[in-house]
Amino acid sequence: MNTNMRKYQGTGIGEAVAFGKLRLFRRPDPKAEYLHIADTEGEKARFRQAKALALGQLQELGEHALQEAGRDSAAVFEAHQMILLDAEFDQSVVHAIDSRSANAEYAVRLTAEVFAAKFAAMNDPYMKARAADVWDVSLRLIRILSGTDSRPMPAGEKVILCADDFTPSEAASLNRENVLAFVTARGSAGSHTAILARSRNIPAVIGVGDEFLRNAGEGDEAVVDGSTGEVFINPHGEILKKLTDKQLTLTRKASLLRELKGRENVTLDGKKIDIYANIGSVRDVKDALANDAGGIGLFRSEFLYLERSDYPSEEEQFAAYRKVLEDMAGKKVIIRTLDIGADKQADYFRLKKEDNPALGLRAIRLCLLRPELFRIQLRALYRASVYGNLGILFPMITAVWELEKILAVCGQVKEELRQQEIPFSHQVELGIMIETPAAALISEKLAPLADFFSVGTNDLTQYTLACDRQNPDVAQFADPHHEAVLRLIEISAESARRHGIRIGICGELGADTSLTGTFLRMGIDELSVSPDSILKVRRTVRGIDLRE
Ligand code: PEP
Ligand code: MG
Repeated sequence: MNTNMRKYQGTGIGEAVAFGKLRLFRRPDPKAEYLHIADTEGEKARFRQAKALALGQLQELGEHALQEAGRDSAAVFEAHQMILLDAEFDQSVVHAIDSRSANAEYAVRLTAEVFAAKFAAMNDPYMKARAADVWDVSLRLIRILSGTDSRPMPAGEKVILCADDFTPSEAASLNRENVLAFVTARGSAGSHTAILARSRNIPAVIGVGDEFLRNAGEGDEAVVDGSTGEVFINPHGEILKKLTDKQLTLTRKASLLRELKGRENVTLDGKKIDIYANIGSVRDVKDALANDAGGIGLFRSEFLYLERSDYPSEEEQFAAYRKVLEDMAGKKVIIRTLDIGADKQADYFRLKKEDNPALGLRAIRLCLLRPELFRIQLRALYRASVYGNLGILFPMITAVWELEKILAVCGQVKEELRQQEIPFSHQVELGIMIETPAAALISEKLAPLADFFSVGTNDLTQYTLACDRQNPDVAQFADPHHEAVLRLIEISAESARRHGIRIGICGELGADTSLTGTFLRMGIDELSVSPDSILKVRRTVRGIDLRE
C-alpha cells in the first residue's frame, strides 16, 4: 500500500469536508463466461450464499419501495424473491453446476436463458413480461457471485465511494446513511449525478481524472473537500490539521445557518420571494422540510423511472405523488413530467443510441411521441392533485405547438377522469421549463398559454453555449454567468411579467448567491434550490436592498 500523500483536483459539490476510507466501485460485468470447476460442492455453496444475499437485498429494496411509492412498486421485488425461491430455478442452477462442472455464474446465466425464453414464448402479455424479471434477478445473482454487485451502495462502515462515473440511477441509490462522500474520475458539475449529490447533501468531487482511480487503493484513508474540489489520499501533517479545522468551521457555519430557520425570505426593502426545494424522490421531502422549504419547485419525476426494470404503473406513480403532496401539507409542489433521455437512461425504454443524445429524443419529445406513457403519468398526477397544491411542469419546450398539444392532452386526461368519476383538483397549474434558447426567445408567445415559467439554467447554459453538460473537457466554456444566458433569463422574466404569470429558477444557478440580487431585479418570484442551499439563499435575500 502506498502511504504517500497524494492530492487530486476536481469540481467540488457541497460545503462540507468528509474524512474516511476509500471504497472503489467496480461496475458489474455480467458476461458470466464458463469456467471448469472441480469442487462442485463448493460452487453450490457459493450459489446458495449469493442467493441468500440477493434475497436480503430484495427484501430491503421492497421495504424501501413500499415506503417510497407504495404496494405496486414493492410487488416487483416480491416477484423477484419468488423467482429466487422457485424450486425449479434452484434445481436448474444446481444441475448445471453438477452436470457441466460449471461455475455458478455460468449456471445462473444458463438457467436464466432457459427460463426467460419460456416466459417470452407465452401468449399472455403479463407472463411474457416476466422474462425481464428473470434476467433482472439473475443478473443480481451473477453480480454478487462475481463480486461486482450492481449497487454502488456499500454495506457496513460508511466510506468514500469512488468510481469512473456514476449513472444517475446508481447515484440515486446513494444517500448520507451509506456514504460519507463520493469521488468520480469523470463527469461534470452540471451532470445529474452532481445534481443528485447536491440534493442528497452528500459532499462530492467530480471529474478528478483517471489517474486518481489508478492510484487510489481500497481502504486508503482520504479526505474529500466539497468546497474546493480537492481530494487527498493519505493526508497527514499540516494538511490534515488544516482540513480538520476546516471541517469544524463548516459544521459551525451550517449550524449558524440553521438560526435562519423560521425567518422570512424578504429583502431589506420588503420584497418577499419564495425559496423552494428541488427533489429527486419522495424521500428527499424530509430534507426539504428540515431546511424550511416553502414548497417543492422541482420534483424530477424521472427518478421514479430509473433503477428498475419496467415502467412504473399509474398506481405506483399516484402513490408517490400523493405522498409528496400530503407531506408538503398544502404547500406548492411542482412535479416535472418525465425528463428521460440524454444522460438519464433506463433500458426498458429501448431508446435508440443517438449521436447527440442531448439534442435527441428526450423529455417532452418522448412523451409527445409515446402518448400512452404521457397519459399514464398525467392521470397519476391529476389523481394525486386532490391531496395538495400541485403544479405540473413540462421540460424541454421549444415551440408553441408543443405546449398546445400538451394542453390538449391534459384536457383529454381530465375529461377521461371526469367520465370515470375520479376526482381531481381544478386548481392544478401548468408550467413550462425555460431551458432552451428557443423557449426564452418566444417566451412572449408561450406565456399566455402557461400558468408559470421555471428556468432550467443547467440546460439553458448547455444549449445556449453549445457545451455538453456531461463533458468535463468543455466545462470552462460552459459559463452559466455568460451574458447570453442571463439575457435569456431576463427576456423570459419580462414576458412573464407582461402576462402576469410567475417565474422561478430551478436550475443550479438558482443557488448561486452572487446572482441572487440580479435575479430579484429581473423580477424572479421563486428560487428552487437543493434543500441544503435554502438557508444560504435566504440569508442572501435578507441582505439585499433593491432600492440600491
Ligand atoms: C435544468 O436544466 O436546469 C433543470 C433544472 O433540469 P435538469 O437539470 O433536470 O435537466
Ligand atoms: Mg433540464
